Amino acid sequence: MNEIAPPAVLQKKSAQIAAAVLAPDAERVDREAEWPAHGLRALADAGLMGLHIPRRLGGLGEGLLSLAIVTEELARACSSTAMCFGMHCVASKVLAAKATKHQEDQYLRPIAEGRHITTLALSEPGTGAHFFLPRSHYWAQGDDYVLDGRKSFVTSGSHADSYVVSAVPPGAELDPGTFTCLVMDCDSPGIEWLDAWRGLGVRGNSSRAAKLKNVTIPQTSLLGLTGDQIWYVFEVVAPYFLVAMAGVYLGIAQAALDLTITRLQSRRHEHTGETLSMISALSDEVADMWTRTERARQLVHHAARLGDTGSPSCQAALFAAKLDVAGTAVAVTNAAMRLAGGQGYQENSALGRLLRDAQAAHVMSPTTHLLKRWLGRSVLGMPLL
Ligand SMILES: Cc1cc2nc3c(=O)[nH]c(=O)nc-3n(C[C@H](O)[C@H](O)[C@H](O)COP(=O)(O)OP(=O)(O)OC[C@H]3O[C@@H](n4cnc5c(N)ncnc54)[C@H](O)[C@@H]3O)c2cc1C
Repeated sequence: MNEIAPPAVLQKKSAQIAAAVLAPDAERVDREAEWPAHGLRALADAGLMGLHIPRRLGGLGEGLLSLAIVTEELARACSSTAMCFGMHCVASKVLAAKATKHQEDQYLRPIAEGRHITTLALSEPGTGAHFFLPRSHYWAQGDDYVLDGRKSFVTSGSHADSYVVSAVPPGAELDPGTFTCLVMDCDSPGIEWLDAWRGLGVRGNSSRAAKLKNVTIPQTSLLGLTGDQIWYVFEVVAPYFLVAMAGVYLGIAQAALDLTITRLQSRRHEHTGETLSMISALSDEVADMWTRTERARQLVHHAARLGDTGSPSCQAALFAAKLDVAGTAVAVTNAAMRLAGGQGYQENSALGRLLRDAQAAHVMSPTTHLLKRWLGRSVLGMPLL
């Protein structure tokens, strides 16, 4: 069994792996759009893949605050690895939420032992940002279920060992209260992976689309009860997804700030003998970048703590946290590029990678448009959907 790991210990451990393993690979992972197997192996060997698996099953039994802290540390070095890790964490939390004994043995123990990577396959081409409205459907056939449909942007697509998928019984497509979460093993017959992922950023993510053509999975793959999905979406997927993504984009913003500080302190003009850090217009911008990043971090940690303690006000705080971090990551990486001058504007520069990676923040679900609406409705006491 893993030892109990308070957030500070996890932060140190993930920062060490990020520096020693993730950072040296990050440029290649981005350039080659390479799924970060090496980095994820290091995280598994350190016991981090079982972050949300209960301690009695060998995991760390950690919650949202630890997720925010670990994903931030990883993303400071490589956002692709952090994203694959984050999506694994969200899916493993969905698996753990209402796991049967069979699912504990089949998925949760191997995850805790670092032998199994999972991920979320919710989004579909037909419903896009409305990840909670699947059109894939499933039906019972003997002791099995048969799944049919399409999934899009599946992080770790074709690499994970299992996929947490959403699907509806035929005929229930327009009723948002009827979809179901199921777990699909990677070798289930009928999964066809489509084109390789060639994203603008987070290029090692392997966010691929898949056709599910009469995929046969055992009925033991049902997560919770038929129609439990709204419980899953708002009790597990949303909080863990929002915090995992917030952690990743926070890491991107912090990495851009770190690069800016190093650059301004080291770049010296010959005609004045001064470093860029001595120019007030530039240090003023650094002040704004620092404030924005730290403010976003405090909001993320505050929301995560509220979520961990089951506070009724956690929902609005979690929505606001991801919303704010998305704007922060884009604004801070833009500012960093501005301050880096022509040197930052090189092909394949670390800053260029961060700038591209940050752009995913607004378009990954829940997207900025939908989140803002949910936040307003949540604060006004209105139904979200
Ligand atoms: C790098 C990356 C990794 C991803 N990983 C995963 C994953 O692991 N699992 C997974 O399930 N999904 C994943 N996704 C999918 C992601 O969460 C979104 O579902 C997807 O980006 C939506 O893209 P789309 O082009 O279909 O959006 P569209 O639905 O076409 O939306 C386009 C724009 O319109 C806005 N919009 C759409 N509908 C509304 C509305 N009703 N009101 C206001 N605005 C609206 C959206 O906010 C967006 O800005 C990933 C996406 C990316 C980019």
